[in-house]
Amino acid sequence: MFSDMHPSIARVALPVPLDKQFDYLIPAHCQPVIGGRVSVPFGRQTLIGIVTELGHNSEMSPDVLKPIRSVLDERPVWSASLFRLFTWCSQYYQYPLGDTLSNALPAALRKGKAADFATLREWCLTSAGRDKLMQGLGRAVQQAKVLRLLENGTQSHQTLLDEDISRQVLNTLEEKGWIEAIDRKPDCQPWPELLEDEDEKPQLNMEQSVAIATINSQHEFGCYLLEGVTGSGKTEVYLNLIAPMLKQGKQALVLVPEIGLTPQTIQRFRSRFMVPVVVMHSGLNETERLNAWLSARDGHAGVIIGTRSALFTPFADLGIIIVDEEHDASYKQQDSLRYHARDVAVMRASYEQIPIVLGSATPALETLQNALSGKYHHLTLTQRAGDAVPTTNRVLDIKGLYLEGGLSAPLIAEMRKHLQAGNQVLLFLNRRGYAPVLMCHECGWVAHCQRCDARYTYHQITQELRCHHCGSQRPVFPQCHDCGSTQMATVGVGTEQLETQLAQIFPQYRTIRIDRDSTRKKGTLESALNAVHRGEYHILIGTQMLAKGHHFPRVTLVGLLDVDSALYSHDFRASERLAQLFIQVAGRAGRASQPGEVVLQTHHPEHSLLQALLKKDYRHFAMSALHERKLALLPPFSYLTLFKAESNQAELGEDFLRQVKQTLEIHPLFDHATCSVLGPSPAPMAKRAGKYRWQLLMQTMSRPIMQKLLMSAKPVIQRLPLAGKVRWSLDVEPHDLS
Ligand code: ADP
Ligand code: ZN
Ligand code: ZN
Repeated sequence: MFSDMHPSIARVALPVPLDKQFDYLIPAHCQPVIGGRVSVPFGRQTLIGIVTELGHNSEMSPDVLKPIRSVLDERPVWSASLFRLFTWCSQYYQYPLGDTLSNALPAALRKGKAADFATLREWCLTSAGRDKLMQGLGRAVQQAKVLRLLENGTQSHQTLLDEDISRQVLNTLEEKGWIEAIDRKPDCQPWPELLEDEDEKPQLNMEQSVAIATINSQHEFGCYLLEGVTGSGKTEVYLNLIAPMLKQGKQALVLVPEIGLTPQTIQRFRSRFMVPVVVMHSGLNETERLNAWLSARDGHAGVIIGTRSALFTPFADLGIIIVDEEHDASYKQQDSLRYHARDVAVMRASYEQIPIVLGSATPALETLQNALSGKYHHLTLTQRAGDAVPTTNRVLDIKGLYLEGGLSAPLIAEMRKHLQAGNQVLLFLNRRGYAPVLMCHECGWVAHCQRCDARYTYHQITQELRCHHCGSQRPVFPQCHDCGSTQMATVGVGTEQLETQLAQIFPQYRTIRIDRDSTRKKGTLESALNAVHRGEYHILIGTQMLAKGHHFPRVTLVGLLDVDSALYSHDFRASERLAQLFIQVAGRAGRASQPGEVVLQTHHPEHSLLQALLKKDYRHFAMSALHERKLALLPPFSYLTLFKAESNQAELGEDFLRQVKQTLEIHPLFDHATCSVLGPSPAPMAKRAGKYRWQLLMQTMSRPIMQKLLMSAKPVIQRLPLAGKVRWSLDVEPHDLS
């Protein structure tokens, strides 16, 4: 309630897992604002929360209320529309508001730091250092490296750390007087007159022009699906949509998948626009993240490119949102606030009354359905831009064929052809390690993770067994645990083994493996990709890390080695993902006027999904998949909520979920004609990291009903006797059913 009088009570959302807010007294010297941070006592701790209301009334008696300790912000950290978005998120995804708000803040603000630009340290060469560089440093390799890195100008402290330089080396060099630290706040200059580099712009084709004109004519909310095959010039469309926004002084938000944030992508935006293009991803340190956040909020950044969580960045004047590769699974957060960044982005655009563009070569079935039903506008790019030609796709029946490291003889022959022509080959195998199974050759015993319902993966390089689900690892068993035999054998092929085999099959060609194991260290992925671009390697082995965002102009053959498991999965989205992967991987090849070829090894060449993909295209596949979903009443034709429970004792989770089921089914809003609850059943991985896992799936035909039902049933579920004894969670519109 607004009042002229100094409000006496503030309602505060705190980062605690409770669906409620807390009232505090406002001391006379404090002037909290709605949407600003305050620090308050909570039990024995001091917490930082966000003020959601100011007034004079509380349900609690004033003598039990405690006073606010301090006010951290003089103005709200978010705009009213963004605050409304968080409230919506909290309700839609059934996650406490206090936690939702806290999650959306950069860590520095969450910890109570001032919402002010932090100083960043940079290093530069002194003249003594420059002299030293000329003379050479002999054996001090690290020191020489620093001097060389600084030769052409200053570098940020973080960049040097990323280059594997230790703090100690920097200190030593500083003591010697060869380098100098500069601490400064980022300079936030007004945007220049000329915002765009016209020389960088290609002549647009007809489809691109139509898409741009259509979206540019929109000055309010509108959602556009931009469906365009890989290389059809979607990014060029984004750039052309952003330019006029910048000219009006408005900013742009570009969301990209986790692995799509490549240096090439960033460079493309930076070289085109003269305004600050600021990157936001999980690799930023606290200071960098705060500065990026502030540069968007205060209007210094023209473009923010970021991964999922960049969606929650405040902007001074946001003009457009772009979600690239909108189908990508990394847009769904799998824990805490289980939001889908694409869906929330659409909501944000509608609150802010601005256009949003969802781009993909392989739209998610949900998005496609929204476009087909007219909820979203549908724009297509059917031609590959420039001189690139479509790939030819082929299925290779490997039934009964001998496989060498997972490769069939016909594929090896094909590889030889491409390699001899001086081209690169990309082999796609979505399985890390040497082999997924270690088995006793005499009795068939298999090495299992003791904490999970899963087999150990054998890693030859480190001579370890590793569980890819809980991360546990142990030395390789030399002997069978069952019969004592020493004849342990591997089954199946992972990327390590493929690499070893390729060295024997093609000793004259260099192979590089790019997966999570080989690129664990910061910067190794970039240097590997650069080496590939320079042509230092002939064969690339990759997991799904390589399926997106990267362009390999010299690759003319792509081989997919093992896709059969996705054809027969318990997850109804597996076929959609395989289709998307196939199109994405195929899009890596033949971009630069060299015709590309895609070969897919399978035991099921007749499978309808593969046929639809090969003979026709993604759209054809998607239409038949949508038809199947409709018959089965699966999303987007119904709405799911997944309840999960984990516990050390096997029965607890099941019992709890049975109570949840009952709670839902007797609820007045639960209409048995349009709502159903499946389960409880063991999760597809019934045990993980020592915990037994159960799940329950609720299906409704209407989204509002699902919402209302969850809102009103959740407090009841929270009070169930077993709710405090198991670890449970609720995933609205889940993407991962495991
Ligand atoms: P996508 O984002 O759909 O994969 P890009 O926008 O990256 O496609 O375009 C692929 C390549 O074609 C890029 O090198 C880009 O510079 C170029 N390109 C895009 N549009 C055109 C055009 N109209 N004429 C010539 N080249 C273009
Ligand atoms: Zn045995
Ligand atoms: Zn495990």
